[in-house]
Amino acid sequence: MDSTRSNSLPVVIPRPEHNISRANISPNAVKVLYRLREAGYRACLVGGSVRDLLLGREPKDFDVATDARPEQVYKLFRNCRLIGRRFRLAHIQFGQEIIEVATFRAHGDDSEDGDGPSVERAADGRILSDNVYGSIEDDAWRRDFTINALYYDIDNFAVLDYVGGMADLKAGLIRLIGDPAQHYHEDPVRLLRAVRFAAKLGFRLDPATEAPLHRLGHLLEKIPPARLFDEVLKLFLGGCAIQSFELLRHYRLFGWLFPATERCLHHQQHHYPKTLLVRALASTDSRLAENKPVQPAFLFAALLWEPLREQMRRLEAEGLDEHEALQEAAEQVIQTQIRHTALPRRYSLPMREIWELQQRLTVTTGKRALRLLDHPRFRAGYDFLLLRAEADEQAAELADWWTRLLALDTAGRVQATQPAAKAKTGKPRRRRKARSRKGDQAAQPAPEA
Ligand code: ATP
Ligand code: MG
Repeated sequence: MDSTRSNSLPVVIPRPEHNISRANISPNAVKVLYRLREAGYRACLVGGSVRDLLLGREPKDFDVATDARPEQVYKLFRNCRLIGRRFRLAHIQFGQEIIEVATFRAHGDDSEDGDGPSVERAADGRILSDNVYGSIEDDAWRRDFTINALYYDIDNFAVLDYVGGMADLKAGLIRLIGDPAQHYHEDPVRLLRAVRFAAKLGFRLDPATEAPLHRLGHLLEKIPPARLFDEVLKLFLGGCAIQSFELLRHYRLFGWLFPATERCLHHQQHHYPKTLLVRALASTDSRLAENKPVQPAFLFAALLWEPLREQMRRLEAEGLDEHEALQEAAEQVIQTQIRHTALPRRYSLPMREIWELQQRLTVTTGKRALRLLDHPRFRAGYDFLLLRAEADEQAAELADWWTRLLALDTAGRVQATQPAAKAKTGKPRRRRKARSRKGDQAAQPAPEA
């Protein structure tokens, strides 16, 4: 148990003194809170939703904390599933929306014996399983940051603050609860969470929370790749990818997630003021700001583009043609990456297609070129080419050509891809690029043209 903590009463912020209104809470979450309360349990909104509501932001999801045990929650809701090993949780499903209900837990203290399953630790102090139930106050103290440990109590609509979260929220501070180094060791993902919340909320890191960040990145090596993959998506698809990326690099955490990319960035930093990666992250942020969809595959294609190119150059120097080099390099880059973050095939396959399209889009004559327009990944491949175009003249010429083609009607497109038409309109000729290639099928003039 944390030494700074005594059995203390929370600071209670009564309803008139805060801005959380039930009108801003998901009706399903309100339903869950009331159902629990009517069954005689305590029920509070907690975590990101309370934090975001207090900040006047729209919460991503609504998490509920209660003194009901998972099995008791299960009995109250028909649409309930129990999940999780590390944390046993109840998921209440309402169509697309899931309300997560967690039982109050105590901090992972080994000497304590809750009557749930006990805390399980790795030799290095990481908590592997954390199912010791406790009071609401215990629950507050085992959370990560003070601003994430505020409770909105459905009983009286007050906000309960055990850890000084309100003051930090007002001051714009990310502060770990308890001893920072110990907290990072217990769950190194908190290193990434600290960065993510700082980026997302535009908050500063409290000095004691910040100090260990620079030197603890290595702890991430012990985190399962699947969990790091989830965190990476949250970091880069949360609308603040640029800030997240800059903070990750600043605290020397990025290299523990993407070592091959970090090496390329390190070598290139004097040559490329703005890498393709930074442009991809910026475009991801602006798409999200406009409520447009974003693809993890596109993001990973950009994250791993420089390592891919470096590997391709190496393989081409060994005598592989461009096509073979891409296939081989893609395989190697993916195999290296999945030792750090997972990369499920549903993302790595389209990622490879986006890369392959960078070669295939160099064909600008014949039906082969026209057919590319129907390729399921054409749009992503073309968008990727546009990003490359910002720093690469040859890619820029090619991107312009495809942009002009897209502006034409069907007849115009057929015309534009005739070999003869190309000479007249002075469109970029593949030959310039193709000359250096040996035996690349995709670069040969299409026989049917
Ligand atoms: P987001 O807006 O990204 O969902 P969040 O704060 O809700 O942010 P979640 O990952 O949804 O983050 O977690 C919900 C809450 O659970 C957190 O606010 C925090 O109180 C607690 N929590 C989550 N992960 C950890 C962790 N690794 N260690 C301690 N507490 C955690
Ligand atoms: Mg959340």
